[in-house]
Amino acid sequence: MTDARISKSRPTSADVAIIGAGPAGLTAAYQLTQQGYNVTVIEKDPVDVGGISRTVEHEGFRFDIGGHRFFSKSQEVVDLWNEILPDDFIQRPRMSRIYYEGKFYSYPLRAFEALWNLGVVRSTLCMISYAQAKLLPNRNVRSFEDWTINQFGRKLYSIFFKTYTEKVWGMPCDEMSADWAAQRIKGLSLGAAVLDGLKRSLGLNKKPNDGMATKTLLETFRYPRLGPGMMWDAARDKVVAGGNHVLMGHSFKQLTQDQVSGRWRLTANGPDGDVVIDAAHVISSAPMRELAARIHPLPACALSAAPSLKYRDFLTVALKIRSEDLFPDNWIYIHDSKVQVGRVQNFRSWSPEMVPDPELACVGLEYFCFEGDGLWASSDDDLIALATKEMAILGLCDPKDVVGGAVVRQEKAYPVYDDDYAAHVETMRSELEARYPTLHMVGRNGMHRYNNQDHAMMTAMLTVRNIVAGERVYDIWGVNEDAEYHESGTEGEQAALASVRDVPARVTKAA
Ligand SMILES: Cc1cc2nc3c(=O)[nH]c(=O)nc-3n(C[C@H](O)[C@H](O)[C@H](O)COP(=O)(O)OP(=O)(O)OC[C@H]3O[C@@H](n4cnc5c(N)ncnc54)[C@H](O)[C@@H]3O)c2cc1C
Repeated sequence: MTDARISKSRPTSADVAIIGAGPAGLTAAYQLTQQGYNVTVIEKDPVDVGGISRTVEHEGFRFDIGGHRFFSKSQEVVDLWNEILPDDFIQRPRMSRIYYEGKFYSYPLRAFEALWNLGVVRSTLCMISYAQAKLLPNRNVRSFEDWTINQFGRKLYSIFFKTYTEKVWGMPCDEMSADWAAQRIKGLSLGAAVLDGLKRSLGLNKKPNDGMATKTLLETFRYPRLGPGMMWDAARDKVVAGGNHVLMGHSFKQLTQDQVSGRWRLTANGPDGDVVIDAAHVISSAPMRELAARIHPLPACALSAAPSLKYRDFLTVALKIRSEDLFPDNWIYIHDSKVQVGRVQNFRSWSPEMVPDPELACVGLEYFCFEGDGLWASSDDDLIALATKEMAILGLCDPKDVVGGAVVRQEKAYPVYDDDYAAHVETMRSELEARYPTLHMVGRNGMHRYNNQDHAMMTAMLTVRNIVAGERVYDIWGVNEDAEYHESGTEGEQAALASVRDVPARVTKAA
């Protein structure tokens, strides 16, 4: 889609050109528009804004990429959400469980329920292997597998950790480094879980200050009634209403800086050919690897550090099923190794308006993959057939009831943090920032950070302040990236949590 006000033949002039109309790009565009800046955003998707936080519509059914809860400890971000979308947030109950061999298990796990569901024989085996791990722990802990078996025993590890973790990260648990397990599963021990289960059963686990506000926040979440894309559609509309441009279907092709004026020439390839935007500043939320490779002349890091940055990709197969909702959860984790699917979203649980036909349920089967691998390259028809077959294997639906489907692929869903990623990011950051004070990297892949929407937005908000100030007053790399905060804490409360790695690294070469 081309904006008629953008000319193909002569460069369009802007104060700020922005690459990407995801949460980071549109937050920057919105705030700059409010401050009277002339802004042009290019977005490679021909239809949807919102990036990974978009909502895809298919025949009136809506689904998002992974399910997006709106939660932030930053009051500034919460205020911005409310400002952009004042009337359309709904408060939804939060529920997610683990599905394993035909039974649902609470998530986080409840020890008694888990043992009950597993049955006498398997529970006994779990207890024996737990006792073995405690009596004879592995003293040379190197991998995720070593660490988790020491903590829970081999049997529980194989049921509740191994399969799902391997589906998500696409590498064997005995090759993932142990430090990641220690971060992710810290504080969860079987003894504590049993004690907690006992207290729950006896009604003894209420904390004196366990107020309703905290309880409500943890058990419910805010969600735009038409999905997260509704937020970003509204932001785009405000940018355009303010006289600025959002060019859909325009891919970033090349970036050149004029040596004399210091201004940028951003070339984007669109449906009608190339357009050139001449701008004082460029904000990029495109993957760092791509940005570096398209700067002309090539910076050194484009050849050294950038090619080493890696990603995990993701696809959702949405199925429309003639049925009542299959389960009440927002999503369930699939721990069965018989199937490849990692999670199943239940879109009506996110918002009733996502599923317009009361006779149908709509679920999203999520597959973690690498761009170009067998799953990614499969045709949509094959993926819909696979998802239908896997729902039947899981006993969740009768294939005859599936009346339609759609596939959404999400490249670069997860920036991978391997042993060397931090050094590569630092190399790129220091070279690009030192050389180009008016080039700003923001967001999730734009900074190769495992950011949620709120942190992606915060990096954009600080960048806007830097542009307005005319210098880098705020360090956007200091915005923290702790994805676990979603599970705890109070919305709107500013937190200074330590940054932790949220994806596994391979067992270190030296170990
Ligand atoms: C499975 C999953 C679940 C998640 N759940 C949550 C959640 O519950 N809550 C939450 O807050 N966050 C969640 N997130 C994180 C959230 O999706 C991201 O933090 C957020 O979308 C990042 O925004 P961004 O603008 O930095 O990047 P993106 O969303 O990646 O947007 C970047 C935009 O740039 C465009 N672009 C890229 N390259 C080019 C190019 N060359 N030319 C033109 N345009 C380009 C893309 O098309 C995209 O629109 C989840 C993420 C995943 C993968």
